[in-house]
Amino acid sequence: MSTATHEVFNQSTPLVDVNLFGANRPLREALQRLHPGYDRARFEAMGAELGSAAMQQHARLANLHTPTLHAHDRFGRRIDQVEFHPSYHALMESALRHRLHAAPWAEGPGGHIERAAAFMLFTELEPSVLCPVSMTYAVTPALRATPVFDDWFGKLGDSRYDPRFVPFTQKTALTMGMGMTEKQGGSDVRANTTRAVFDGDDAWGRRFALTGHKWFMSAPMCDAFLVLAQTDAGLGCFFMPRLLPDGRVNAIHIQRLKDKLGNKANASSEVEFAEATAWLIGEEGRGVRQILEMGAMTRLDCALGTAGLMRGALSLALHHCAERETFGKRLIEQPMMKNVLADLALESEAATLLALRLAAAVDRTEHGAAAEGHETRNGNDSHEAVMRRLLTPIAKFWVCKRGSHFAQEAMECLGGNGYVEADGDGVMARIYREMPLNSIWEGAANIQALDLLRVLKGRAVEDALMAEIAPARGAHPALERAAARVSARIHAAGDEAQARLLARDIALLLQAALVKDSGDAVFDAFCASRLDGAADVFGALPSGTHFDAIIQRAMPAAAAL
Ligand SMILES: Cc1cc2nc3c(=O)[nH]c(=O)nc-3n(C[C@H](O)[C@H](O)[C@H](O)COP(=O)(O)OP(=O)(O)OC[C@H]3O[C@@H](n4cnc5c(N)ncnc54)[C@H](O)[C@@H]3O)c2cc1C
Repeated sequence: MSTATHEVFNQSTPLVDVNLFGANRPLREALQRLHPGYDRARFEAMGAELGSAAMQQHARLANLHTPTLHAHDRFGRRIDQVEFHPSYHALMESALRHRLHAAPWAEGPGGHIERAAAFMLFTELEPSVLCPVSMTYAVTPALRATPVFDDWFGKLGDSRYDPRFVPFTQKTALTMGMGMTEKQGGSDVRANTTRAVFDGDDAWGRRFALTGHKWFMSAPMCDAFLVLAQTDAGLGCFFMPRLLPDGRVNAIHIQRLKDKLGNKANASSEVEFAEATAWLIGEEGRGVRQILEMGAMTRLDCALGTAGLMRGALSLALHHCAERETFGKRLIEQPMMKNVLADLALESEAATLLALRLAAAVDRTEHGAAAEGHETRNGNDSHEAVMRRLLTPIAKFWVCKRGSHFAQEAMECLGGNGYVEADGDGVMARIYREMPLNSIWEGAANIQALDLLRVLKGRAVEDALMAEIAPARGAHPALERAAARVSARIHAAGDEAQARLLARDIALLLQAALVKDSGDAVFDAFCASRLDGAADVFGALPSGTHFDAIIQRAMPAAAAL
């Protein structure tokens, strides 16, 4: 006797076994423009792996079976170990094998650009394991020129992931984290109370004993951390390994793992230091400046990561709408849904380009623009340095701020299915829960807007900004109006209460100039919808927009318009 009550139909299929690189035309074109010599075969192989059903299963399992803290062994001795599901390790292995960590610092020109594109692709698969990967990438500028760096750098860039809790000399690859935030102050790190007491000199420089706590310290299984602590001369930045060079376990006590909204596969901890050993990095009293060398790089990754998540959410929305029918038509054919999808596609592409532009500025300043043959638009190398400084708060602020809004709309495209976790199979729900994080950590939006005010104190910024958008000048009247408004606002800058508006307008102006390379349909729609006052709702593109062209460009290869 048949027990079937109905046939399942008009439900979309899972978006699996898609080559994430092949499916992402905006990213491919941007990479080609910014770094024409990129290793295409590498990206094709990576895109296939990261989009595979097997890797998606690892992402599901790593988020379902969250990390567990083992603070003590069964005899009551502290062990401070975090246990992860095997799928977490599989994802970490893949991320390091694809050189998303410190490897680009040892590579030639273009290395940071390739890494940025690869980071975005990986984010579509699983963003939370990228937390320790990002911090390992980010630490180099803060750590270089120290004796520790000589011993650690080779292994920070090694592609052979090694999760063992053994001294650094015995490991293949090493990973690093950071501890700034304390209970009484996160953004205001000068309120840190952790004390550092001088303990002697050795081969790694000035050694201190640190006592205090950190309220957030992610990826506590990293091999070492940069942490802030007070010395007699003010805040210092310290290198704190989990295992000391002689093999003893350092006094870093993990109190608890955070119970977070998203970012489930990654462990974030509260820790206490009980005279933990650490070495001073940089000068006493200048710790904030020192650790922000690392913070600037993780801010880049916040923008890259959010752009990757946007792309992931967009692909799911496009795929679903191409397969689901309502009221006699596929959703993708319904006029209002076309408007929503095209608008999301514009946002996703503009986010991708802005984040990649910052990565290019990092690459060019690290290697020297002239050395790479990139003539800067105002004729000197400092253009890239100014853009790197300007784009860091701008991209972190704007791309991350748009993330949650974007995820909500993309989720709505899937209707009720978008809101369902389905034992970890609900990728859209996972993206939605992850989205706010990049906006909060490493300096929330207000902190980025305040940083922008600091950046704008130099007159060179306006010149660089205008040089940057010069290729798009005259192409759209809204862009001309926006450029004039931004110039006026920069001259009047200083009012903290207005800093978010300024950050938004600079971001939109830069994004408009960047999407000029994406074809007329994208450029015209972006300028018309965003430069004369940003619409507060997706799906408000004006009539006359080339919806089909924009959607077609964004379509993941697996789906059809
Ligand atoms: C999942 C997760 C992982 C994290 N991992 C780490 C880690 O590994 N290491 C680490 O050090 N930290 C980590 N953090 C902490 C994170 O960086 C901080 O939470 C963040 O910087 C904000 O600091 P806070 O929480 O103390 O908030 P506050 O500093 O109290 O800020 C609260 C709000 O006030 C705003 N604000 C602050 N000052 C001003 C001002 N002058 N004007 C206007 N607005 C202002 C901020 O923008 C923010 O919106 C993590 C956080 C999360 C959620």
